[in-house]
This record gives sequence, C-alpha cells and structure tokens, in this order.
Amino acid sequence: MDVRHATQTAVYVSADMEGCADVVHWDEVRPAAHDAYRRARRVLLAEVNSVLAGAFEGGAVSAVVNDAHGAMRNICGEGVDPRARVVTGHSKPLYMLEGVTDLPFPAMAFFVGYHGAVHAGEAVLAHTYSPRLIFACRLNGVPAGEVTLNAALAGHFGIPVTLVSGDQATLAEAARVVPWAVGVETKRSLGYYAAICLSEREVCEQLRAAAGEAVHALARSRPYRVNPPVEVAIDTLTTAQADVAELLPGVRRAGGRSVVLCAPDMPAAYRLLRALLALNVAISP
Ligand SMILES: [Zn+2]
Repeated sequence: MDVRHATQTAVYVSADMEGCADVVHWDEVRPAAHDAYRRARRVLLAEVNSVLAGAFEGGAVSAVVNDAHGAMRNICGEGVDPRARVVTGHSKPLYMLEGVTDLPFPAMAFFVGYHGAVHAGEAVLAHTYSPRLIFACRLNGVPAGEVTLNAALAGHFGIPVTLVSGDQATLAEAARVVPWAVGVETKRSLGYYAAICLSEREVCEQLRAAAGEAVHALARSRPYRVNPPVEVAIDTLTTAQADVAELLPGVRRAGGRSVVLCAPDMPAAYRLLRALLALNVAISP
C-alpha cells in the first residue's frame, strides 16, 4: 500500500438507515416519538461513528457525513465524531450525495445503512428512493437501486465507492457496480419485514475494520461511470404520477405508468429524479 496516498485521503459517508443493524420495519426509520425510532437512530449514529473511527485509523485525514435518510435529520450532530463534518436537512440538490463535490482529492465514498432496490427479493424495506412513487427503475437499461444510481453520481465526480453496508441484496447490487468495494452484511433479509440480524455491536466492529480496509482499497478502486446520454426509466405506481412526471422537460412518456428521464449526464439525470420525487410529494392527495 502507498502510505502517502492513504494519509491524504478524504472520506465521504452517505448514511441511509434501512440497512442498519436490526432495522426491519418502517416504524424504526420514520421520525416519531417512540422507542423504535429512537433506538434505530442511535444504531445509525453508532454505525456512522464506527466507519469514521476505522477510516481515520486507516489514514483518512478528513470526513464528511451526509444524513441521507428520509427528512435527513436523523443523525445527532453532537454525537458524531468531532473530526467529521455533517450535512443535514432537506432539501439538498445532490440529495443522498450532497457535499460529495466539495471533497479534497483523493477521496472515496462509503454507503452505510443502504438497502435493496425496489425490484429486489428477500430485501428488508426494499425500495428505490420512494416506495410511494417508484415501482421499477432502470439506469441505461439495467435495473438500478440507490446503490447503483448514487455510485454513478459519485463516479461522475471521480469518487469511487469503497465501502457498502446493508443486507445481502444491497451487497449483491454493490458487487455488480462497485465490485472493489468492501462489503459489510449487517443482516440476512428473509423478506420485506424480516431478517436474521447480527448484533449492533458485531456490526459496528465489522464496520470499523472494514472502513480501515476500504481506505486502503482506494488504490484498486475506480469511479463507477455510466456512458452518456443517461436514461433513467421509471415505472410509477399510478398513471396519475406519470401524468405529472411527463410535464418536466427531459421526461418522455413511455407508457401508462412508464416515463424516461433523459439527460446528458448523471448530475442532470439526478436533478430530474429529485424534481420528480419533490413533485410527487406535492401532488399526493
Ligand atoms: Zn432511507
């Protein structure tokens, strides 16, 4: 390993929640004053701090954490490793990857607490951005979840993904697009609402070790890039949603519940996707 290379490295952490240890139900990942959410929020913070600890032990010199779940106010700032900066709140133009363009190079991305795509079987809380809008999603013809789309966005900016954590469906998707990434399987999903889980403590120990390894994995990693132009084909849940989606410039109606987001590159495609998600919230009855 090139020590000089590793000691200059910046780490970017995109932190989702459905893939965290023990999480198997929406009650645990939707902000509410009940114990299930409070507990999952604490687990999320512990997992984020574990990868930060491992990254700094591995030689990283700076880190940015982006709260990438739901309303994006799940991570308690005062509890985060003080060596990291935290991107929090909604709405952010780059959404699950906000802040990724501000990193000093060399830099890498970790996807923590990620989950299976909407089309994945045996995947806890499987969805792609919005379970209320997206019934299927393909990036340039290939079925895509958040791992794929976010890796492609990071890749556009020259950032390789070197660590992914979540269930086995998440890691299977990562293996297809970022095979060089170190994977941590937090649980083995049995279905949408059930999994065989490792303990929080075991997951955190594995994440810490994996993060150190992932810093060194940068040398053998590369940005995941998709060939332009970029097409994100989406099947919506309802025809009403497709009716609204096709009003956006760059969106083509491909069927009753099918639209295609056509863009010159990944950031432009991602902006269209973001607009679609925001519009859906606005028009939902
Ligand atoms: Zn989420």
